[in-house]
Amino acid sequence: MSDFYSLSGAFGDLFKATKEKCPIHHKPMIEAPRVGKICPLCEKEKLDKAENEMVKKIYDDNARKTLLTKSLIDDPETYSCTFSSYITKNDTIEGNLKQQARLIAGQYLKQPDAKFNTILSGPPGVGKTHLAMAILNAVNDNAKPAQKCVFMNVVSLFMQIRSSFDDSTSWWTEKNVERFLKDVNLVVIDDLGSESAMSSGPRDATQFVQTILYNITNSQRRIIFTTNLTQTQLVKTYNSKVVSRILRGTKGHILNFNGIKDKRIGAF
Ligand SMILES: [Zn+2]
Repeated sequence: MSDFYSLSGAFGDLFKATKEKCPIHHKPMIEAPRVGKICPLCEKEKLDKAENEMVKKIYDDNARKTLLTKSLIDDPETYSCTFSSYITKNDTIEGNLKQQARLIAGQYLKQPDAKFNTILSGPPGVGKTHLAMAILNAVNDNAKPAQKCVFMNVVSLFMQIRSSFDDSTSWWTEKNVERFLKDVNLVVIDDLGSESAMSSGPRDATQFVQTILYNITNSQRRIIFTTNLTQTQLVKTYNSKVVSRILRGTKGHILNFNGIKDKRIGAF
């Protein structure tokens, strides 16, 4: 800060060095017009801190936008799925699942380095996607520093990758998708199994699907899957290497929705 002090010499009338010393830096305080006594070093530190915070905020805001800009979602209303919009009564299966999902969200939120997958399994229409998105929204909104969260409908994801074969301008190449999903902090893969059920052949995943799922689950250790498949069907659909990677860290992180009535037809 010698510059500042020599400056204060040159503009002697504007900045007057006082006899008082900064208790932190032990340098003379300066009398600044309208402001009063200041320590130039303290002022610089304040500015640096404000600048750092601004840079962090810009980074955090951008990271939080990943969910909106990169997700593949069939129904845009899914974005608004939260814990508070998942209505349950006490002492019901739904109430317990919601509580379990909240705990899992807390783990992902407070332990950004914790590596474990979560599986929400059960028949269609019971709220698996809703709770998966609720976990994602909770982490996306509250993580400090921000965590990049993304939601991928598995059918849309494979459709995008397939269509990139014939479209050289598409971002959704296998390489880009795999790199991107490796680098984010939390991923939902929605409706696992439907990409294989839709193919005309027998109900097992094609080599293409197997390879991509292997690469994604091998490099990303924080994935929340929703699936209609039972564990037995999962084992039949994918090869054992993929299955073992899907199941990594799922002990205590499996939400079983069997026994819930279809929530979409106003069952309760
Ligand atoms: Zn100071």
